[in-house]
Amino acid sequence: MTGISQEQWTRVKGRLRAEVGEDVFSSWFARMDLEALEAEAVRMSVPTRFLKSWIQSHYADRLLSCWQHEQPDIGRIELTVRSAVLKALPSKAKPVEPIDVVREHHNGKINGAEVRHVASAATASLSAHQDALGGSPLDPRLTFESFVIGRSNTLAHAAAKQVASGRRGDAVMFNPLYIHAGVGLGKTHLLQSISWAGNVSGERKVLYLTAEKFMYGFVSALRTQSSIAFKDALRGIDVLVIDDLQFLQGKSTQAEFCHTLNALIDAGRQVVIAADRPPSDLESLDERVRSRLAGGLVVEIGPLAEELRLEILKARVSAATSYHPAFEVPAPVLSFIAKSVTQNGRDLEGALNRLLAHNKLTGLPVTMDMAEREMRDLIRPQEPKRVKIEDIQRVVARQYNVSRSDLLSSRRTANVVRPRQVAMYLAKTLTLRSLPEIGRRFGGRDHTTVLHAVRKIEGLVGNDSTLAEEIELLKRQLQE
Ligand code: ADP
Ligand code: MG
Repeated sequence: MTGISQEQWTRVKGRLRAEVGEDVFSSWFARMDLEALEAEAVRMSVPTRFLKSWIQSHYADRLLSCWQHEQPDIGRIELTVRSAVLKALPSKAKPVEPIDVVREHHNGKINGAEVRHVASAATASLSAHQDALGGSPLDPRLTFESFVIGRSNTLAHAAAKQVASGRRGDAVMFNPLYIHAGVGLGKTHLLQSISWAGNVSGERKVLYLTAEKFMYGFVSALRTQSSIAFKDALRGIDVLVIDDLQFLQGKSTQAEFCHTLNALIDAGRQVVIAADRPPSDLESLDERVRSRLAGGLVVEIGPLAEELRLEILKARVSAATSYHPAFEVPAPVLSFIAKSVTQNGRDLEGALNRLLAHNKLTGLPVTMDMAEREMRDLIRPQEPKRVKIEDIQRVVARQYNVSRSDLLSSRRTANVVRPRQVAMYLAKTLTLRSLPEIGRRFGGRDHTTVLHAVRKIEGLVGNDSTLAEEIELLKRQLQE
């Protein structure tokens, strides 16, 4: 491999990163290596078969065109799986077949009876170690069977399935798997699905813990002087699933979390984590922990689109009718709920529960009229518009009479510093972008600079009513 081809590879990576964005890049391409560059073909390798098949089915063309930018004659990309990982493992370890993500189908039907049966069989085997470690209870309804797939969660679902299909001693594909999303978008549902799957097959010990349980378990173990036993037990499991990591607090808990994470990952055990934000935004966590968390596969679940909301509702109704055969919801009512109730999966559940309760209590059929009445407070006034960072920069620049490039520049004069802070603050409050992402979009600034700006403006609006008004005005302009 010549230095020149490595330089070309570096440029290709840069181009790729710019095209697909940091999150996608670090999830799929960060561990891709250049093996050989020939006149018409490039050979590259990735550490897992899952990555290989995912890149082939989703990014083959893009990868090729990025290379052609460097070397127009290239007509072919060959992707191989590096074997180092597998060789290092005991010889009986078999690589898991990559799942066929693209063709995976789902009928969204829930067989309530079957789910419960499976659940009770697994509950027994689960309870032993769940109890010892203060494991969190699993909800029998939250399984892969009842999880509906849509565009916003395909990736997360595929990764969760992949993790769940692993067997004891298998090579771990990506570690940790880190899923992040806003409230009610299905994180817990996926994590519990993984836990059920592992425990039903009975082959691996899967421990599901909320971060609070982790804290509680650890702290109480310390108090009862059994922390060594606790640690041993924790390290004796195959898959550790931790939900709502953003709630992990306290220095000693975090240190222990860090040790546990390192010990499990280094021992080839699977770790799965969910949180409401990406690892880089877990501000209270130590930098090393954050980078360890970001070192596996990080996937985001996007907001539930209307069609996915509708599919979830349909699945829910069909599950409900197995217990309440008289419960019928006309199609227009379902469309109405899907359209008008917020993106949060919990509200969808709440909406149906109300219809069901009304139907049971009054014996009256579900009608559009009744749905409208019951749903009133769940309906958002108007779906907030998706605000773009460019729009924020444009509107703020106009308001303060500076140019957009001033906002992105490194100039530190007062007349650009304040508008820049306001713009970053708005970017954080009006978009779902992470702090590092916002920093990048503001001339490649560090996420701590963004955080500082956000805190600064938050502090100021409390006392400065003129600024508060200005910001309100900007928000209104942006959301109109
Ligand atoms: P989170 O943990 O992300 O806050 P949950 O997993 O608790 O969200 O999901 C909230 C509710 O929405 C649950 O009842 C869950 O079953 C439902 N839900 C979310 N996404 C899906 C989905 N893709 N398919 C089926 N149900 C879903
Ligand atoms: Mg949750």
